Amino acid sequence: MAYRYLFGPVPSRRLGISLGIDLVPHKTCVFDCVYCECGRTTDLACERREYVPTDRVLAELDDFLATAPDLDYVTFAGSGEPTLHSRIGEIISFIKDRYPRYRVAVLTNSALLTDPEVRAALMRADLVVPSLDAVSEEVFLKINRPSPGITAGRVLEGLLDFVREYPGEVWLEVFIVPGINDTEEEIRLLKDAVVAISPDRIQVNTLDRPGTDIRVRPASRGALERIASVLGGETIGAAYTDRALPPEGRDAGEAILATIRRRPCTPGDLAALTGLRPAEVAKHLRVLEARGLVEQVREKRGVFYRAI
Ligand code: SF4
Repeated sequence: MAYRYLFGPVPSRRLGISLGIDLVPHKTCVFDCVYCECGRTTDLACERREYVPTDRVLAELDDFLATAPDLDYVTFAGSGEPTLHSRIGEIISFIKDRYPRYRVAVLTNSALLTDPEVRAALMRADLVVPSLDAVSEEVFLKINRPSPGITAGRVLEGLLDFVREYPGEVWLEVFIVPGINDTEEEIRLLKDAVVAISPDRIQVNTLDRPGTDIRVRPASRGALERIASVLGGETIGAAYTDRALPPEGRDAGEAILATIRRRPCTPGDLAALTGLRPAEVAKHLRVLEARGLVEQVREKRGVFYRAI
């Protein structure tokens, strides 16, 4: 079966070997973050609906999980906000009922946690990784560029309601963009919020690959470590696990293109993700470049390929 809504499994920085599920079309999101690695949001949405057919997602999950693959997590993530899908709760329950050996993680930008239905939908996940990049309204608008009507105050309120109700693990992610949310004042506000949320882990992240706005640069390691220590958290490094994985359900060129469409990657990242030899990755990249499907961008960590 060719998978449309599943991707990977990929070796994730935080989650080990993770099978991804993408529940919304590319760049359908409540935010249009300046640092987004998937490009500009093309559908700035806050209406919840069945963006992709649930039956089809369940069929793909059944097809893949029935082979009992070795996974650390089944993760709702991708190139948009998964809680926009109105039936995410049913899909989580399907996995937990039918394949209880797998842990389920949901990565969310927290914007919709004000909605009691969204909070209820996530109750059976084992892990939720919500983001919080700003507390002041001004910085929130600059960094997350939300759908009209979404405010920093409401996002924080929703997060607090969620952690009160949710029995699973919460790892809070804070993404630092130098010059936007790294001022002393904002970090102090974030610290207060972190104390109130009291997550199981706090992960402080910065740009690792080209973002949406080319003027956005990564925070230095020193700055990131300082902020992480103020917030009582850890920094997230760029190291991938080294377990090699065959591309699943599609040929290697397609698998490479699908990965690059979700986030820009170096040839080294792609070799680690797909388990292909570097020379083979290079060959596929040359073909994709010649077909005008990907382009190179030079960054501190090397040459990245991104989808055009
Ligand atoms: S970083 Fe996440 S929340 Fe922000 S625009 Fe990209 S997909 Fe949406």
